[in-house]
Amino acid sequence: MIIRCYGARGSVPVSGAEYVKFGGDTTCLEIRSKNDHIIIVDAGSGIRRLGNHLLQEGRFEYSMIFTHSHVDHILGFPFFKPIYDERTTIQLLGCPTAQGDLKKLLSRSMKAPFFPFPFENLKATFNYSVECALDFAIDSIGISSIHLSHPNVGMGYRFSEDGKHFVFLTDNELGFRHRNGVDFEAYVAFAKDADLLFHDAEYLPGEYSVKKTWGHSTYTDALDLALKANVKRFGLFHHNQDRNDAELDGIVGHCKEIIKGRGSTMECFALTQEMEILL
Ligand SMILES: [Zn+2]
Ligand SMILES: [Zn+2]
Repeated sequence: MIIRCYGARGSVPVSGAEYVKFGGDTTCLEIRSKNDHIIIVDAGSGIRRLGNHLLQEGRFEYSMIFTHSHVDHILGFPFFKPIYDERTTIQLLGCPTAQGDLKKLLSRSMKAPFFPFPFENLKATFNYSVECALDFAIDSIGISSIHLSHPNVGMGYRFSEDGKHFVFLTDNELGFRHRNGVDFEAYVAFAKDADLLFHDAEYLPGEYSVKKTWGHSTYTDALDLALKANVKRFGLFHHNQDRNDAELDGIVGHCKEIIKGRGSTMECFALTQEMEILL
C-alpha cells in the first residue's frame, strides 16, 4: 500500500514563506492498494493538487471516504477537477449517523450563493453507499474504523493489507472525551503495533488549557499514544494554522528526545504535503 499526503494543515489553508517545508493545504490523503486501486481520504484543500495529478495520470475511478465533515476536510471538493469530467466515477462511502449524509454535505458545499456551479450539474458519476459497519474492505485493503473524540463526531481508520497496517487518527482529542469518543486506552489498542500512525498533534502542551474541548490533541499526548501503541513510525498531523516550519521542526526534535528518553527507537516526523510512504 502506498500512502500519499496532499495536506496536513489543520483548520484552514495557509500560505507564506514560513510554511514552505510542511505546506499549507488541509487534510487529503491518497492510498493506493497493491492492485493500484485509489482511495481518497478527505477533501481538504490538498485534494486540488491530487485531482491535477490524477487527471495527468489519466485515472478516473476512485473510492472516497471521510473522517468527518468539518469545513477544512471538505472545502477542496469543488476544486477537485475530476468531478467535472464525465469519465469520472467516484464510489463514495460514508455512515450518515457518524458523519452526516456525505453526498448532501458535499452538494451543500457547492450551493449558491457560496459557489457558482451546482453539484447536480457535475459530470462525474457518484455511487453513494452507506457504510456503517466498523469493519469493511475497499479492494484489497481491509479497513477498521473507530469513533473519534471530536465535536460533531467523526471516524478514524486502520488500513490493512498483506500484514501492513496504517492508522489515521486526525481531529481526535485525547485529553477530552467527546460524544461517541472512546478513552485513551481504546485508541492505543486501535493503533497497536501499526507500521505507521498519523495522529492529530495540533497543540503545544502550554496552549491546550484554553483550547480544551475544541477537538484536538497536544503533540505530547499524541506521542504518548504512539509509544504506548508500539507503532513503528509516527507522523504528526493536523498542524496548527500558525505553526511555522521552524516551530514544527522544533516539535519533532522534542518528540525525538522524549522517544529516546523512553528507550524507544520509534521513527517520528511531521507530515509534509508532498510525503509518500510505501508500506
Ligand atoms: Zn480538521
Ligand atoms: Zn474537525
